[in-house]
Amino acid sequence: MRTLEDLRRILARIDGRGYKAYEEIEGAYEGPGWVLYVDHVQGDPFAPPSKVRVRVDGRRAGFPADVYRTPVRRVALEDFLARRVRQGIEAVSRGRRGSGKSGLIWVDAGGQEVLERAAVRVRPEWIECRLHVGLPAAGRTVLGRQAEEMLCREVPEIVRRSLFWAEVPERECRRFVECVENQEAIRAQLRERRLVAFVADGAILPRRSGVSELPLERAIPFRSPESLRVAMAVPNPIVQDGRVQDTLTGMGIPEGVTLIVGGGYHGKSTLLRALERSVYPHIPGDGREYVVTREDAVTIRAEDGRRIERVDLTPFIGQLPYGQRTDDFSTENASGSTSQAANILEALEAGSRLLLIDEDTSATNFMVRDARMQALVAKELEPITPFVDRVRELYERLGVSTILVMGGSGDYLDVADTVILMREYVPEDVTAEARRVARAYPTQRRPEAPRPLDRVIERIPLAESLDPSRGRREVKIEAKAIDLILFGETAIDLRAVEQVVDLSQARAIGYALHCAAERFMDGRRTVREILDELERLFEREGLDVLDPFRRGEEHPGNFARPRRYEIAAALNRLRTVRMRQRRE
Ligand code: ADP
Ligand code: MG
Repeated sequence: MRTLEDLRRILARIDGRGYKAYEEIEGAYEGPGWVLYVDHVQGDPFAPPSKVRVRVDGRRAGFPADVYRTPVRRVALEDFLARRVRQGIEAVSRGRRGSGKSGLIWVDAGGQEVLERAAVRVRPEWIECRLHVGLPAAGRTVLGRQAEEMLCREVPEIVRRSLFWAEVPERECRRFVECVENQEAIRAQLRERRLVAFVADGAILPRRSGVSELPLERAIPFRSPESLRVAMAVPNPIVQDGRVQDTLTGMGIPEGVTLIVGGGYHGKSTLLRALERSVYPHIPGDGREYVVTREDAVTIRAEDGRRIERVDLTPFIGQLPYGQRTDDFSTENASGSTSQAANILEALEAGSRLLLIDEDTSATNFMVRDARMQALVAKELEPITPFVDRVRELYERLGVSTILVMGGSGDYLDVADTVILMREYVPEDVTAEARRVARAYPTQRRPEAPRPLDRVIERIPLAESLDPSRGRREVKIEAKAIDLILFGETAIDLRAVEQVVDLSQARAIGYALHCAAERFMDGRRTVREILDELERLFEREGLDVLDPFRRGEEHPGNFARPRRYEIAAALNRLRTVRMRQRRE
């Protein structure tokens, strides 16, 4: 194998030549205890950067097996190390030197959530880090010395600082891994305890601003109401209330229908937002690291303008004007209420059993229809069965719980199992009072579900309706933003899909659709079955499998693991998609 010395010689030789000369450095170079792989060289300094990897020998790296012993620990360690590499880049890299992306080094490390990602992989035999680098040039002329500084000095120094156990701050690393493990341990207890979420005492829920996920400074810490207080065992001791403990106290939200009520600006939406992000573990210091929600929670909102493909909307929407049927409903331009109905039914189809809904982002006519409206507008003229008439059935017949922020309509008091009042950012359990109020002021409205709620009709997507090609490229998939995927020539709008938390998740979703179309859409499998297959594939082969062009062990690109619900959401929003209903 060539060595770093060989790389130095090549770079000295091609110094001053045209950019194409960089192609010569593709290949592997041995360094002390590791190998540098230059997998792909960019076409010019403005093109997407080059892909390189560093694989460190496992024994030399020296990580004790217990920090990555279980899948949860391994993902946490990998996430931690990607952050460590990012710090290393910040500390070591001189940054831009030359035109375009010349001299820049990137690693795809995460934000406030801890996700499985392709950036770092840890195995007993090796640890590998995937980087992007901008190979330096002046105009289109190779800057060999700068490239040498970058690849032969900076990259090795970054690797030395971040991928060798001796250099990693052990306490910080263990604390990170153990914190993630604790969160997953709490999540694993939720189901048997018939809870859907847990919010630890002392948690900090609000964020710094509408555009920052960092914790708000000087926020009021969360404090659980006594009647909803539970203690959760954690495998790694933690400090709560200044004491080292092996259980954490906090609010347990039971299964069933939960209302979050309270005056405007008292923290209702903040609580719901914390719950929706807490389907993922958070990093230590985030404030939400001990807020834990069941992994199948899906945020539902109204989304007028979205496309709908062959959804059976009848649980919520009956016959439309001029006899339009809704049991096999498609539209290029959904209304607020039909979009919200479709969002719920699609979430259930994908397997969710926990809906999170905020009045702020709901269609009013979907959520409520009060006595006076019932009196004025005859049922025959109103196709909508409002959510208030389905929410109990969802739980009792289908086992689907709902957490609902609702400060505006008291009609929900009749259907709630638990009512939480937010008062100056602190929750109170007002379930008993809510019952009294519901009895003292009976709602005059009549329940109006035309017939009992049925199983959701599943659909079969057709592979030929997913076309990832653009121009001469057979596969062109890009994540332009966290909420915008370009799939071939079609844009997928994810602005209403709130639980994508990382750009690399959006990218993975785009490629997952292509992967699913190639491997699993056989005209028989339903959306749910295809999602099952994808999850099994990720478990078996990791995210690297998403790169359709990958040869051997090459750098696969930047991916973070998406949930099945967001993959389904993207599929449902792909405007070209065609499906068939499965009815037997
Ligand atoms: P609501 O939905 O009840 O109208 P929000 O959840 O939108 O209220 O919160 C209103 C404001 O209060 C937001 O700016 C939010 O950041 C802030 N806030 C929420 N919780 C807290 C808290 N625990 N401490 C301090 N500020 C908070
Ligand atoms: Mg609100």
